[in-house]
Amino acid sequence: MGDRLQGKTAVITGASSGIGAASARRFAEEGANVVVADVQTDLGKAIAGELGDAARFIECDVTDEAAIVAAIQLAIDTWGRLDVMFNNAGVVGAVGPIAETDSESWRRSIDILLHSVFYGCKHAARVMVPQGSGSIISTSSIAGVIGGLGPHGYTAAKTAVVGLTKSVASELGPKGVRCNAIAPGTVPTALTAAMLGDVNDLESVAEQSRQRYGRSSDAVDIANAAVYLASDEAAYVNGHTLVVDYGRSINGGSARFASSESKMVGIPDH
Ligand code: NAP
Repeated sequence: MGDRLQGKTAVITGASSGIGAASARRFAEEGANVVVADVQTDLGKAIAGELGDAARFIECDVTDEAAIVAAIQLAIDTWGRLDVMFNNAGVVGAVGPIAETDSESWRRSIDILLHSVFYGCKHAARVMVPQGSGSIISTSSIAGVIGGLGPHGYTAAKTAVVGLTKSVASELGPKGVRCNAIAPGTVPTALTAAMLGDVNDLESVAEQSRQRYGRSSDAVDIANAAVYLASDEAAYVNGHTLVVDYGRSINGGSARFASSESKMVGIPDH
């Protein structure tokens, strides 16, 4: 479709499904080579197969630091470089009231949602700093930007991703490596469908968004944000968390004082 990522090589975690899969497709459409890294092997192999020579699949559990290293190594062995590390894999994790949250589930949530991002940043930096260029992108969430939109562990991890992004950006920016995050709103994917009820019913997730916010998103909306941050168009964007939520987090979904239903009042002229 385009050449915005021509000649770049990317590792995308969680790329067998949802936002990661849409990103693998969009990156390849823009000319990138992509390592599809995920725990879901059949789906991941199918996506890599669909993208042909532009993609390779690797089974990768992001809680395993060695598996992240192997995914990056596959990019280097196949295409000779790593330009984009997209730390995207995720789960809903531990849910429920704080007083009833099981500590083991909490730790597992933080492992998948935060420690994985640390591993991704760490090993991308190892390759990108000597190269003098690169773009690290991590998927946060609007739950990481405002409170009360996700489970406690999820919110804590996604908020930490925003902080880690700023911290890594501060260190690596002077070395030519950018680090940014994306904070999606509700996207109809397996993850959201599982949280809201039926994992196979993405359409009802989309319909709920349409009714509440006036528009539903598609995973490709988030993938397009990732293409931008990965591309040289974002050369001066570093340490930023790009919220992609159709304005949901700025107004809680309401425009009470700016709607045609609100009563007009005069403005005193003094
Ligand atoms: P998704 O369709 O479920 O895709 C996530 C992928 O990551 C799945 O293939 C999943 O496999 C995989 N995964 C889970 N644990 C993993 C691990 N330990 N190692 C490697 N891969 C693993 O969900 P998505 O909505 O695209 O989520 C992508 C990212 O966006 C996540 O970080 C999520 O928190 C974030 N996000 C999503 C939304 C939304 O509304 N969908 C909003 C804000 C942020 P399994 O299915 O086997 O777990």
